[in-house]
Amino acid sequence: STGEMELIFDSSSANESFARVTVAAFMTRLNPTLEEVSDVKTAVSEAVTNAIIHGYEQEKGKIRIRCKVEEKTLYIEISDDGRGIDDVKKAMEPLFTTKPELDRSGMGFAFMEAFMDEVLVESHPHEGTTVKMKK
Ligand code: ATP
Ligand code: MG
Repeated sequence: STGEMELIFDSSSANESFARVTVAAFMTRLNPTLEEVSDVKTAVSEAVTNAIIHGYEQEKGKIRIRCKVEEKTLYIEISDDGRGIDDVKKAMEPLFTTKPELDRSGMGFAFMEAFMDEVLVESHPHEGTTVKMKK
């Protein structure tokens, strides 16, 4: 099974569930288990939420999701053109957050890594962030 899709939407939290459900619908071609669908939805939700609250903060921008299926593997890329991450390695450490005042626990990347088979983050300050995941 192969195929691709691309989704571009506004960085509004109202779009977070829409993004999660769309990726879940896309991956049905892989005949996933409920657990696999749930894992992917959680990872997408964490990455999209990060783009909205950290990438763009108060400003608005676009979030892009690219999905690709090759053989039995799902590839997902979630990108924003926001503020970017200064130190990716540090940002990915469990419990690291730059927004403790917003009740953030710093577990988003840890969940993505736990629920997906591979998570790569590319980011450049003032240019944006791309999270590449594989399942
Ligand atoms: P939680 O996800 O538990 O609510 P969190 O979002 O702070 O808390 P992570 O998702 O692990 O934790 O992200 C860690 C840190 O990485 C964030 O606090 C933020 O500084 C930075 N970060 C993550 N994604 C982005 C992004 N798209 N743009 C800019 N900074 C980001
Ligand atoms: Mg987060």
